[in-house]
Amino acid sequence: MKKPVYLDYAATTPVDPAVAEEMFKYLTPDGVFGNPASRSHAFGWQAEAAVEGARRQVAGLIHADPREIVWTSGATESDNLAIKGAVAGRENPHVVTSVVEHKAVLDTCKWLEGQGVDVTWLKPGTDGRISRQQVEDALRDNTVLVSLMMVNNELGCLTDIAAIGAMLRERGVLFHVDAAQAAGKTEVDVTAMPVDLLSLSGHKVYGPKGIGALYVRRSPDVRIGSQIHGGGHERGMRSGTLPTHQIAAMGKAFELAGEGLEQEMAMLESLRERFLSGLESLDGVTLNGSTEHRVPGIINLSFDGVDAESLMLGLRELAVSSGSACASATIEPSFVLKGIGLDDEQAHRALRFSFGRFSTAEEADFAAAQIVDVVTRLRSVR
Ligand SMILES: *Cc1c(COP(=O)(O)O)cnc(C)c1O
Repeated sequence: MKKPVYLDYAATTPVDPAVAEEMFKYLTPDGVFGNPASRSHAFGWQAEAAVEGARRQVAGLIHADPREIVWTSGATESDNLAIKGAVAGRENPHVVTSVVEHKAVLDTCKWLEGQGVDVTWLKPGTDGRISRQQVEDALRDNTVLVSLMMVNNELGCLTDIAAIGAMLRERGVLFHVDAAQAAGKTEVDVTAMPVDLLSLSGHKVYGPKGIGALYVRRSPDVRIGSQIHGGGHERGMRSGTLPTHQIAAMGKAFELAGEGLEQEMAMLESLRERFLSGLESLDGVTLNGSTEHRVPGIINLSFDGVDAESLMLGLRELAVSSGSACASATIEPSFVLKGIGLDDEQAHRALRFSFGRFSTAEEADFAAAQIVDVVTRLRSVR
């Protein structure tokens, strides 16, 4: 069977071949396989040098100091470390987040609620964005942390992190930002955005799965409680032997992302135009989320009169993701789409198409033509 066209880059990206090549250098007997924490011999020193090189590369993409990068197993762990770590040891803490965050933030905040922490859940406007004013209105005397994502993984819309961060800095409240969908897709600059903690993932940026990082600001100094204990790696914030191959690969991936950022954004912008213009003959198509403040690669569309499940069944030649997360028996509509005010029926009609580095104009054309065909057919048999 022919492989479907991959249009799910927001779920994960393939490892860039140049990254895979880099990764292989840190595994085998003739490679740099040592434990980066081994201080007594060259095997350890070489591995440590590789880890520190990668730390500079990851820091470089977000304009951070390499000492501000803490390695984790992925953005899920980074989110957990940032949120639980910021709240740990605080008396009567209050946390502000939103209903359209990634599960890694939602579930962590729900767990905190179970532990007796007060959590305010903000609802975005129909454009999917949380405003600075909304955040400011939610603050209380005991607010210790605000956690918001920079780019929404279902809608692709951008939060105004710089404005919210400036306000929170003035109020002395910690700001955590999940930037897993932002890095490599738009400019992420911690010198221009006052954030304290920022989560990154390797596999959304053409690196391997199972590696991520948390940016922890040094000035002003941010202190978080460690969540994984044992050995005191990563300045005590995250213990565990560092996976040199994963780290070197994430470093390479982030370096490539920085070098190609502008060009890739322009390429994805033009693919987006091409894909959407291919759908112009179809009416009753709604673009969900902000059309102005967004990254180009993530496109969430609803089709009047067609439910996403049937559409996906018809689109077997495209690998896409439904706005509806199917949880075994019950098909629950996307909490993100409901969060922006869509009713169950509207949310059940949404599909996410996400393009990336290896997408082509032919694929965009093919995808659009398939969608026009299948939607037209489904509508005619209604
Ligand atoms: C993918 C993703 C995560 C989880 O990252 P992992 O590295 O897979 O744990 C967290 N937040 C957002 C916004 C994501 O897109």
